[in-house]
Amino acid sequence: TDVTNSLLYLDGVSVSFDGFKAINNLSFVLNHGEMRAIIGPNGAGKTTMMDIVTGKTRPDAGDVIFDGSNDLTKHDEADIAMMGIGRKFQKPTVFESHTVEDNIALALSGPRGVLPMLFHNSSRTGEGRIREVLDVTRLAHLRGQMASSLSHGQKQWLEIGMLLAQNPMLLLVDEPVAGMTDAETEETARLLRDIAEGHSVVVIEHDMGFVRELDVRVTCLHEGSVLSDGTLEHVSSDPRVVEVYLGR
Ligand code: ADP
Repeated sequence: TDVTNSLLYLDGVSVSFDGFKAINNLSFVLNHGEMRAIIGPNGAGKTTMMDIVTGKTRPDAGDVIFDGSNDLTKHDEADIAMMGIGRKFQKPTVFESHTVEDNIALALSGPRGVLPMLFHNSSRTGEGRIREVLDVTRLAHLRGQMASSLSHGQKQWLEIGMLLAQNPMLLLVDEPVAGMTDAETEETARLLRDIAEGHSVVVIEHDMGFVRELDVRVTCLHEGSVLSDGTLEHVSSDPRVVEVYLGR
């Protein structure tokens, strides 16, 4: 199959908690440079899937292959972060008593943050990289402000920026627009589309309006496996998807 050409390849993955199959024979392929939205009702297995990819949870069975050849089931969380998988959890965790700029600079000095400076030309110094990250996360005009003064939405963008500073090959983003205003939600869709120009991204999301704005292929999970996959139009009109959402 397409394991060698994919960035992330899951095949036949299962994990049980006390006999309950949270992930059940799950297969999923993400191509290099692709952004994908993962939807599904509460308990579908979305978080557990991300836990498996990041090494937080070890599957009982199946293959989890990153970038064609790295068997993620044989690595721990720290190794996997170092390989280039960055995860944004739902709740923003920024350094409140540091400026916006310093938050990015602190992330740049982290384990993978030095890589862009090693591998890119000298114009992309630390300052250049910070500028790029501030621009794409819509925070350039707030660079000198304390992170504590940011809105909830801006804190989410800052944390995405901190992950970007680490130069991830794959960015996993968990419900980024929960608690955001409508304007922030719309801006987040644009921001993630901008990021997806140069990165591979998986977004877990409940907000269908937001998924529509992301304008990406959608995978719907249910009971730990893929129920439906394709365009949002295809997935949202799939009778099985309609049933699991209406049945709740
Ligand atoms: P989602 O993120 O789609 O809401 P989860 O991955 O959080 O779904 O959960 C999938 C199922 O696995 C749920 O029924 C949940 O209760 C169960 N589950 C997840 N993590 C654990 C755990 N550590 N121990 C026991 N059950 C768990």
